[in-house]
Amino acid sequence: MSHALVLGGGGFIGGHLVRRLTGEGYQVTAVDTHLPEFSVSPAWRFLIGDLRDQKFCSGVFDRPYERVYQLAADMGGAGYIFTGTHDAAIMANSAQINLNVLRDAVKIPPGILFYASSACIYPPPHQYTDAIYEESTAYPAQPDSEYGWEKLFSERLYMAHARNAGLNVRIARLHNVYGPESAWTGGKEKAIAALCRKVITAAEGTEIEVWGDGQQTRSFLYIDECLDGLERLLLSDSMEPINIGSAEMVTIQQLAEMIIDISGRRLGIRNIDGPKGVDIRTSHNERIRRELKWSPSYPLRAGLEKTYTWIRQQIDVKQSGGDE
Ligand code: NAD
Repeated sequence: MSHALVLGGGGFIGGHLVRRLTGEGYQVTAVDTHLPEFSVSPAWRFLIGDLRDQKFCSGVFDRPYERVYQLAADMGGAGYIFTGTHDAAIMANSAQINLNVLRDAVKIPPGILFYASSACIYPPPHQYTDAIYEESTAYPAQPDSEYGWEKLFSERLYMAHARNAGLNVRIARLHNVYGPESAWTGGKEKAIAALCRKVITAAEGTEIEVWGDGQQTRSFLYIDECLDGLERLLLSDSMEPINIGSAEMVTIQQLAEMIIDISGRRLGIRNIDGPKGVDIRTSHNERIRRELKWSPSYPLRAGLEKTYTWIRQQIDVKQSGGDE
């Protein structure tokens, strides 16, 4: 049986990935500081510990895995990564994890080592052109958050180990992945989950708050398509960092309106000051079309309906005291 290792297997993407790999017949080792919050992990073994601890990390690399997915990172939505309050922790924690992982991966090289980078490595666009967020526009580098700088540094760290230590590395720059079983409260939730929660919990006839003027544009990738893209990437020989994201761009205002529409509720929108990130961010998909012969196509509305329904269930359970 093939062994796969999912670092960050208790998180949103990691939790879904463990399920997918197990379903495909992999014997999966998942690693995280905690078990998944919203479902039971089907992992063959789940190792709980801190990957910043070199000794613990070395213990995880106890066999030549066919695949290693490195998803563990200190991350969250705009409220976590753009306020500045968590900058030192975000950089130090994630860099330490990646340094530890590479030191051990070199000793027992996996068949493929995947690293999850982010669209946040791109500089803010100075003007809108069709080529923004094309992979090469990462340089000259000017990410707008320390989270983005750490991701860019770690991309280079993985590529340097591919060159110097012969590791078979794949790197995806993920763009706003969403879906059921992502954080929806507590400070680390991202835009879609936060907006769904606000729409569900607002009193009828009132307004929900949206950070900024709502004119900032984004694209969002449904979790199932994210995993489809990762599989294609791992099966390809694409060694340079590549975008995995949707090109269906919406403004945050349109996103909020869509979620209100799905809810069937009578709510308005009030724009307030808050961390909003860059004005435009989407995925440029020419390279994945060319190299992976694939690009995402699942409609945003369909993914939002599933995510909204899941968050409403979570809130219903909480309100009925079912999680206590
Ligand atoms: P997540 O926060 O749900 O998952 C990350 C997991 O890493 C968490 O469960 C966390 O407990 C674990 N972790 C953090 N520090 C650890 C440590 N020291 N030791 C062990 N485990 C630790 O985030 P996610 O949305 O699933 O993202 C997974 C990866 O993809 C991250 O690297 C993230 O930066 C990247 N990414 C995600 C998105 C997105 O939209 N979700 C976009 C771009 C990049």
